[in-house]
Amino acid sequence: MKQIAFIGLGHMGAPMAANLLKAGYLLRVFDLVQSAMDGLVPLGANATRSAHDAVDGADVVITMLPASHHVEGLYLGEEGLLRHITPGTLVLECSTIAPASARKVHKAAAELRIPMLDAPVSGGVGGAIAGTLTFMVGGDADVLEQAKPVFSAMGRNIFHAGSDGAGQVAKVCNNQLLAVLMIGTAESLALGVANGLDPRVLSEIMRRSSGGNWALEVYNPWPGVMENAPATRGYEGGFLTALMVKDLGLAQEAALVSGNSTPMGSLATSLYRLLLRQGFGDKDFSVVQKLFDH
Ligand code: NAD
Repeated sequence: MKQIAFIGLGHMGAPMAANLLKAGYLLRVFDLVQSAMDGLVPLGANATRSAHDAVDGADVVITMLPASHHVEGLYLGEEGLLRHITPGTLVLECSTIAPASARKVHKAAAELRIPMLDAPVSGGVGGAIAGTLTFMVGGDADVLEQAKPVFSAMGRNIFHAGSDGAGQVAKVCNNQLLAVLMIGTAESLALGVANGLDPRVLSEIMRRSSGGNWALEVYNPWPGVMENAPATRGYEGGFLTALMVKDLGLAQEAALVSGNSTPMGSLATSLYRLLLRQGFGDKDFSVVQKLFDH
């Protein structure tokens, strides 16, 4: 039976850890916030006093932390966690962070002969609870083969995006496109409605025409068009605007490093920052509809 150290038990980490316990793995868990660990102890997890304590005897280390500086702060440096991990232990870094940060951790891990994958996820809290996350993985293909059973206990789709950092690149590209298509959908719906169309009729026409996209299929931003979409429940739940702002910022950071021009991504970043400043950070990202009057 594999011993897993799971560090970072927030909205995503806690349900992911719960699914690993359900699959029969032994878990030592750590979070800076004691109460984050409490819910997992009755499920069989061992709560620990520090990240160093958690990785003791682990075959696999998983981290699910908020942002790049948390990940670099945890793993790197003379006192960093990598120095306390036995060579050969598998490190699965699942947070959404800058590709450049992921590559830094990969490099330090490789120097210590620690196999590592960057493996950000898509699917949100719902996917984490249901065990249906998508993992976008960067690193060696043979390391991914070893990690597959662990990912499968938490997710449904596992993609090998490429070499070190490629998982993070795939994640920011996907989320940049998601923001752009959501904004475009909201803008077109508002235009149609202002010119006399019923939003349901227009949505169906566009869904089945060349403008068809994921938002029109499952996540319509106009309230009342889709019974199960966040728009219909006051934009509650779903994928928060604050997290979209974070991911768009990472896409902009990646574009700066590679020298790419990303006019749509940078406009999307501005519009989502505007929503954040207007107090919509804790609403689903389809709340961008409100910028176009409905
Ligand atoms: P969260 O803020 O709910 O949880 C992060 C946890 O990490 C917190 O409990 C915090 O106390 C803990 N933590 C921070 N630094 C730590 C340290 N040094 N040692 C131990 N614990 C530490 O965040 P979340 O929503 O669970 O997201 C985690 C990651 O997943 C982020 O990178 C996020 O962008 C990404 N993500 C989130 C979602 C989502 O819908 N929430 C979806 C996909 C990806």
